[in-house]
Amino acid sequence: MYRKPTEEWTIKDSADLYRIEEWGNGYFHIQEDGEVEVRLKRDTPESSISLLKIAQGLKDRGTKLPVLLRFSNILDDRIQHINESFASAIKEVGYEGVYRGVYPVKVNQQQQVIEEICRFGKQYHHGLETGSKAELLIAMAYVDDPEAYVICNGYKDEEYIDLALKALALGIQTILVIEMPGEAAIIVERSRALGIKPNIGIRMKPSTVAGGHWTDSGGDRSVFGLNTTQVIEVVDMLRREGILDCLKLLHYHLGSQIPNIRAIRMGATEAARFYAGLLHEGAPMGLLDIGGGLAIDYDGSHSDNSNSRNYTTIEYCTDVVEEIMTICKEERIPHPTILSESGRALVTYYSVLLLNILDTNVFWNGKGREEPIAEELLPALDNLLYVRTMLNKDTAQECLNDLNYYREEIRNKFLYGKVNMRERAAAEHLYWSIISEIYLLLRDQEHVSAHLRLVERQLSDIYYGNYSLFQSLPDVWAIDQLFPIMPIHLLDKKPDRQAILSDITCDSEGKIDRFIGRNGVENTLALHTPPQDDDYILGVFLVGAYQETLGDLHNLLGDTNVMSVTYDEEGKFKFHNELEGDTIAEVLSYVEYDTKQMEAMIRSKAEQAVQEGRITAQQRRKIISAYTAGMRGYTYYETDQEE
Ligand SMILES: *Cc1c(COP(=O)(O)O)cnc(C)c1O
Repeated sequence: MYRKPTEEWTIKDSADLYRIEEWGNGYFHIQEDGEVEVRLKRDTPESSISLLKIAQGLKDRGTKLPVLLRFSNILDDRIQHINESFASAIKEVGYEGVYRGVYPVKVNQQQQVIEEICRFGKQYHHGLETGSKAELLIAMAYVDDPEAYVICNGYKDEEYIDLALKALALGIQTILVIEMPGEAAIIVERSRALGIKPNIGIRMKPSTVAGGHWTDSGGDRSVFGLNTTQVIEVVDMLRREGILDCLKLLHYHLGSQIPNIRAIRMGATEAARFYAGLLHEGAPMGLLDIGGGLAIDYDGSHSDNSNSRNYTTIEYCTDVVEEIMTICKEERIPHPTILSESGRALVTYYSVLLLNILDTNVFWNGKGREEPIAEELLPALDNLLYVRTMLNKDTAQECLNDLNYYREEIRNKFLYGKVNMRERAAAEHLYWSIISEIYLLLRDQEHVSAHLRLVERQLSDIYYGNYSLFQSLPDVWAIDQLFPIMPIHLLDKKPDRQAILSDITCDSEGKIDRFIGRNGVENTLALHTPPQDDDYILGVFLVGAYQETLGDLHNLLGDTNVMSVTYDEEGKFKFHNELEGDTIAEVLSYVEYDTKQMEAMIRSKAEQAVQEGRITAQQRRKIISAYTAGMRGYTYYETDQEE
């Protein structure tokens, strides 16, 4: 709760409240008029556009909320950023190798993303990392640069290996990374059969444990990669088979979103030793692939908590390059080409989800006293009313305890028939009003106590947003990921409510009650009373990585509408690549309904009703057209019906 009621509210206050400058990374700002803008080109203020204006433009075009906005300029900026950061670190420390990025397809597999990375990334020879046959098929089609690498990870069967070998014959630099001991034999066998010499990599299991959510990618128990014994077995086997000269790359992956730079440095050191070991064994090597893990500062705290990171991209690059260089010097070996598989760091800022608030459930009217209570109900409320008479600053905590006790008592009496429904309703009403008074008393204290936090949470509103947590923000549910959430307009006005968010799945798991606040994680979000006759729109930011494809069809809420916004060379904004979200018919077909058959079922039901005189033929027509229109409609809540 913001404690500055007397002075005038400015956009600066909103910026502090939502911390937008901390997590926005220069891409998101608040405009003078209180709207959030996205800056599509770095250091180019003219390339800024208000998200509300975009939403209004979409509305005029008939595209409804919720909508996912994509910004390909930002994707380009991120590709440039990581490549130039590595280039400058390399120059700075006098490293003699180069950097080659590969983007892991799984982080956001959308065609637009892959196409843009391959197109814009070509100048840096940015390649792709694949973890399955499907992803390899994507890479084969889109990578069009003999100097870009395609790193083939994941579980590999014969077909996967054959595809990678054939791609190599085609001039695409595929590298088959051995993740399981058994894969080596299949690679040997298939490359002989096809007469194509493979590029081979080995994925090692680092003993470095990264911290954060994905610690299992490192350490003895990580599911992928070879332990030291297995690495040696594979080397011996490749030597026996006469293809040790194909072993070119060492790979490791510590996990995603690594908050602490120490783990990154230790991982690089350990890997560089392994790399040197392989070179000493007689493999030609040349490539050291440090995997992903470059983290995003979601909460803007610049710390080593799991939603943040305690380093910048340039520090990341410099540390990795330095560690590798140090080991190379000690081992007297040439400097390898450094590859990294950053996914999150490339695509996180690329998309924003816009959603409208449909309704609110207000537990507290912002005042204290309730309407007068009817005379005949008063006796049942005796105890509660007594608590109120005792209430002051010093007794507030005690009164809170008593209040909860007496409410419980009344609920119990209700169960035994000793309190009737009207009495219970009056008691609940009184309870909330006294809680509000307690809140007003505690709120004015200097120190924000734990009690106040609890009361604040209890009194917070529920804002119902037009979205599905499971479809659009699965990591909030799965791993308690924090995403920045804030209104995209009205930011020159003081938010007057504290709320949690609920989605429109009828599942209490669909709520969001952890937000980025000034004191770390907060349980409520400051919001405005939604305007009477206009949409109140929230943005969920930094959702470009992992969210789109991990989403599921809980309650059959499907993909949202999507729109790309680009700032082109001529300085014009373009709306393009509009994708209509799933229709209800599409979502039903995913779960194997035959929607044609369903329509036929309704037709015959309605026909029978006409035969039996329950409805007229005209009514039948209307029922059927409503049903078929419903099938074609958006799965989300539609506020204005089209004429
Ligand atoms: C998921 C994954 C990545 C991407 O990690 P980010 O933290 O998103 O950069 C890279 N490499 C491998 C092997 C992965 O499984």
